[in-house]
Amino acid sequence: MEKRTIRDLDASGKRVFVRVDFNVPLADGKVVDDSRIRAAIPTIRTLLEQDAIVILASHLGRPDGKVQDGLRLRPVAERLSQLLGRNVPVTGDALGLGTEDALRRLRPGELLLLENLRFHAEEEANDPGFAKTLASYADVYVNDAFGSAHRAHASTVGVAEILPAYAGLLMEREIVMLSRLLENPERPFAAIVGGKKVADKIKVLRNLIDKVDLVIIGGGMANTFLLATGRSVGKSFVEPDRVEDARAILEAAEKAGVRIVLPVDVVVAKEVTRGAEHKTLGVEKLPASWSIVDVGKQSLSAIREALAPSRTIFWNGPLGVFEIPVFGEGTRQIARFVAEMADAGATVVIGGGDSVAAIEQQGLASKMTHISTGGGASLEFLEGRTLPGIAVIPDREPATA
Ligand code: ADP
Ligand code: MG
Repeated sequence: MEKRTIRDLDASGKRVFVRVDFNVPLADGKVVDDSRIRAAIPTIRTLLEQDAIVILASHLGRPDGKVQDGLRLRPVAERLSQLLGRNVPVTGDALGLGTEDALRRLRPGELLLLENLRFHAEEEANDPGFAKTLASYADVYVNDAFGSAHRAHASTVGVAEILPAYAGLLMEREIVMLSRLLENPERPFAAIVGGKKVADKIKVLRNLIDKVDLVIIGGGMANTFLLATGRSVGKSFVEPDRVEDARAILEAAEKAGVRIVLPVDVVVAKEVTRGAEHKTLGVEKLPASWSIVDVGKQSLSAIREALAPSRTIFWNGPLGVFEIPVFGEGTRQIARFVAEMADAGATVVIGGGDSVAAIEQQGLASKMTHISTGGGASLEFLEGRTLPGIAVIPDREPATA
């Protein structure tokens, strides 16, 4: 699947509506993690350098169709201004005469950010009238908001159906990197799947199970897999209604000759809280009153050994309750290990909000081949689903000789 991108566009002098994903965490009116803003910079710069008129649009949080002052995009515009080294004005509203006026005054090579699109319920409803108004601002549409591509909203689908649509450079990179996992990964190909729930990851596991050579299972979801293999997990987080799903994955793996690595030892704690009493035990003898909070040392050696020959690794979901540092050892060790593998030439792709946060905490993000900016979107992509925000962008026309 090769999409039309801004490389196929001569944007000079054109008004370009750029849907970006500036849905970033804020605290005290400041952006606390600007990675999504930074990820959109190459597209914004490319368009500005071509003397396009750049109209940026994003959502932030869940204002549910009402203006919420705490979800205004001003802090985002301030951070973006710093990153671009020029002032980025933000409108008071995505609609209205003031906004139209500000848009009219933009000159080639200038940019502006529309206020939070979700202050209007019509955005999430993909309202045709709203989409038409947004489309009236521009000559062409660019989607660089991979993290929102799984949503069929006015700014991700509606506007793209009206204007000539192109993928931005971030969108292109996300599609290329994630497609590579599904289509022609260099082998051996390993998936590390952790995080809390089987329920959240089951579709990804189903889709990947006959594409990978190896699956490492950790995190809370490993508990349900342990239950499926006849272990007891004490008072660990577990999903009894997903034991059948876990069993089906184990069977499918066996049929496909895919190796599954489950924890052989685990860190257990009296309570899943900071400072709780904890120890490491083999999975065959877990006491009833303890909770699994991390993978153990032996599991970590087994995981490293299994991963070592891999040429491609996809990782989603931390291996333990990493928010509590003493229960984050497994996640930290494997993060360092895959970073070294990436250094040595393996393709390492990380997806998922908490997984990415864990890797950023350790300052390892730049070592990885690709860190997906889409949590839900990257999972849906790897489930093999068609994302509406991608589907609506036309395929690239083959070059005419
Ligand atoms: P991602 O955001 O990377 O997709 P998830 O949201 O699926 O990851 O999972 C992250 C959460 O899983 C974290 O909050 C972490 O505390 C939790 N988790 C990991 N291991 C366990 C465990 N053994 N028991 C309970 N929760 C766990
Ligand atoms: Mg998460």
